[in-house]
Amino acid sequence: MSTHFVIIGNGAAGYRAAKAIRRADGDARISVFSEERHPFYLRRQLGDFLAGHSTLDELIFQSRNAYRRERLDLFLMTRVTRIDPAAHEVIFASGQQVRYDRLLVATGTRAAPAPIPGLSLEGVASIDTLTAAQESQRFLRDARRVAILGEGVIGLTLAESLTSRGLRVTQTIRSERFWPELLDETTSGLVEAVLETNGVLLRRNAEPRVIIGAGHRAIGVETASGETFPAEVIFCGGRRRANLDLVEGSGLEVGRGLRVNASLETSHPDIFAAGDVAELAESDEPQDENAPFCWQRAWAQGGLAAASMLGRPAEATPEAMRVRTTVFGHDLAVIGRGNLPKSDDVQIVERRGEPNTYRRLVFEKGVLVGAIVFGTGENVHELNRLVAERAPRDVVESTLSGQAKPDAENLLPQTFAQHCPICAAELVVHYGTPIGSLVCCAACNTDLVVRWDGRRGWLEIPNH
Ligand SMILES: Cc1cc2nc3c(=O)[nH]c(=O)nc-3n(C[C@H](O)[C@H](O)[C@H](O)COP(=O)(O)OP(=O)(O)OC[C@H]3O[C@@H](n4cnc5c(N)ncnc54)[C@H](O)[C@@H]3O)c2cc1C
Repeated sequence: MSTHFVIIGNGAAGYRAAKAIRRADGDARISVFSEERHPFYLRRQLGDFLAGHSTLDELIFQSRNAYRRERLDLFLMTRVTRIDPAAHEVIFASGQQVRYDRLLVATGTRAAPAPIPGLSLEGVASIDTLTAAQESQRFLRDARRVAILGEGVIGLTLAESLTSRGLRVTQTIRSERFWPELLDETTSGLVEAVLETNGVLLRRNAEPRVIIGAGHRAIGVETASGETFPAEVIFCGGRRRANLDLVEGSGLEVGRGLRVNASLETSHPDIFAAGDVAELAESDEPQDENAPFCWQRAWAQGGLAAASMLGRPAEATPEAMRVRTTVFGHDLAVIGRGNLPKSDDVQIVERRGEPNTYRRLVFEKGVLVGAIVFGTGENVHELNRLVAERAPRDVVESTLSGQAKPDAENLLPQTFAQHCPICAAELVVHYGTPIGSLVCCAACNTDLVVRWDGRRGWLEIPNH
């Protein structure tokens, strides 16, 4: 009898795992459950959708038919409410249940705004899901002024898409500077400068206290200091919490997320977790209360979880990325503990370029434990690997200066990343990959040729 793989969640991690299991095992029975109404879409590009830069078709590149072709049984609008590890069953909101042989929990996170009055007013919006983004489009139709409450990846995405719609955007930040939990002072300053140059009005030291309403509609925000400002649409950003309701009472070990080992196994051998919901029990990840929120990490873990579920303990691709995004076209990457301050044990190596480029390397006791790169995206994937491997300083320096090259001439001397030319998923091609070989986009299954011109690498559609 074929193995039944059950995957809860159809985001970056769940979708990638389903495809990878199918590729490795043609006989497997694979069931994917999602509480959303759409098949897999590029969640991180919802900002482009809101701005009107991408259409529904560009966002959803895996139609229901494509799932059928690959014999992936997709169940949409199906919420899992409970897991019973002893019976090997997941239980749905309808009360029905299904048995699994191996289970992957890839349920992601949700926004966890401070519980201030007014959150249920019309005009309080979100872009966590495609359905929420479509609803936000409706609110924005007649709006002129918009508020973004809090910093974070979604706040940055929103600032860019809303200003490009010609809206007047006010963003509150909780302290004196932007996102201090994640960014060092210099990077906060660079991000703030880019936001302000592009017309975003930043309100510093501003803790929202009330969303002001008139009747059932939101009309503005009052902060803890008593200041008010008008806004017809209000997005709550900031904190994220892992979607863990379904594991309550299951006996699985949880912390800020569902605890997993390096092979992404939970405390029960047939249950795995991947993506933003997963918390690596033994890792260098900062133990703040926020769940991770990183597409690249989720995508990589989907592949790793698939290998572990197939019983082929994975060749884990090292992954230390915490944030990879853009701020009005400026690349921002935070890797490992990139914002650690200088101390007796911690050395910081900074490089400032013009205009608006910055790189910060953080060495603790001589090994690389973090990096922040703003502006260029230069060496980001190399740094991700070096941080994950805790590379010593001399190795980091020789790698970044381009001296560390593989022996054979036809092997890629540098890791690079590119969006898939077919489906736009982010692909990473690693140092040492044979030039001219084919790599397969795990999102859309297209084979792509690895090219290198002596200075940079890229991926090409064969015979194109
Ligand atoms: C607007 C926006 C912009 C972003 N920009 C960036 C960016 O620039 N860079 C970056 O790195 N990341 C970005 N992200 C974050 C990125 O999208 C996430 O980190 C990534 O999607 C996480 O993937 P995941 O598979 O872990 O979870 P998700 O993509 O969140 O998927 C979770 C899945 O679980 C399902 N689910 C949850 N609970 C249940 C349940 N009980 N029963 C059934 N199904 C359930 C959901 O329906 C969904 O299918 C952005 C996110 C948003 C919303």
